[in-house]
Amino acid sequence: MIITRRSCHLGCLGEHDLIETGISRNDRNTPLASAELAVHRAIYQQTPALAVVHAHPPHAVALSLAETEIVPSDAEGLEMMGRVPILGWHTEVRAGGLAVEIAQALKQCRIAMVHGHGSFATGQLLEDAHNGTTTLEESCRVICLLKSLAVGQTRQ
Ligand SMILES: [Zn+2]
Repeated sequence: MIITRRSCHLGCLGEHDLIETGISRNDRNTPLASAELAVHRAIYQQTPALAVVHAHPPHAVALSLAETEIVPSDAEGLEMMGRVPILGWHTEVRAGGLAVEIAQALKQCRIAMVHGHGSFATGQLLEDAHNGTTTLEESCRVICLLKSLAVGQTRQ
């Protein structure tokens, strides 16, 4: 598998930030891999995914602190993702944690959120997983806007 380097920055990824290591076994590159390696490995082992995108989209993270699942209000989000489960309520979230639970959830759906942390999206291509991530964040922005409209209405 190819995964980003531990502690690298999304805004300035270079070729040297891509680490090649095993899905099932460690090698000399393994210590260089992202702290989320265990989650990515579990997803590749337990689902048909050929690509995984992990991100911290702010509106989705905000909703993950308030809800137990995200149900898109917009047609595109609903069609693409359906319900997005939020995992890790009542557990201390650390990097690489919940690997088994996340992989299990991604057998049923394309995207899962971790409470107060971020999203894991799968696809056959990296572009699919990236699209899922941006669609999730767009849907979450719409949900947040709807919530702020509802708050405005009750104040009138
Ligand atoms: Zn993260």
